[in-house]
Amino acid sequence: MMDFLFYPKPLAELINQLSKLPGIGPKTAGRLAFFLLQHPDIAEALSASVLEAMKEIRHCSVCCNFTDQDPCVLCRSERRDQSMLCVVEQPRDVAALEKTREFKGRYHVLHGVLSPMEGIGPDELKLKELLKRLEGVQEVVLALNPTVEGEATALYLARLLKPMGILVTRLAHGLPVGGDLEYADEVTIARALEGRRTL
Ligand SMILES: [Zn+2]
Repeated sequence: MMDFLFYPKPLAELINQLSKLPGIGPKTAGRLAFFLLQHPDIAEALSASVLEAMKEIRHCSVCCNFTDQDPCVLCRSERRDQSMLCVVEQPRDVAALEKTREFKGRYHVLHGVLSPMEGIGPDELKLKELLKRLEGVQEVVLALNPTVEGEATALYLARLLKPMGILVTRLAHGLPVGGDLEYADEVTIARALEGRRTL
């Protein structure tokens, strides 16, 4: 709590909520709150679009990506290669890979990685959903972030999928270690996809 006491309660609460956003400290939260109060049109459009997104966006029942139609556009597309499935951690990773236009298969979003420290086990991830859709899949490309948890999750999945006769590959190195897929540039991701290796 900085100088919250000097603010009227609703303003202090707005700053408090904004400061919960990733990358937003109390100072920035304060600046944003004042900006919103000074620009009511922007504030109203913002709050309306937050509510709209919360109402309309859900998980695709097939790939678990965010969507406003179920199944999502990518799952419904007949042009995507059914035999290839790319497994990612977060919905934003799908966007990062789609930007490269290199991958023609389908996606599956785990919504996290295994992390015993944070109490995230296989049941917390969208694994059941993954296992349900493996018919006809010949290759699973693991596009997980090169973090300790990402590596552990990749090994876990390889051990699970390989006995089913599925080729399990990983993006080639070249992605920044410990970095997020979403921050890698398109050329780097495209190369990593091209140079993927078998696990
Ligand atoms: Zn989908």
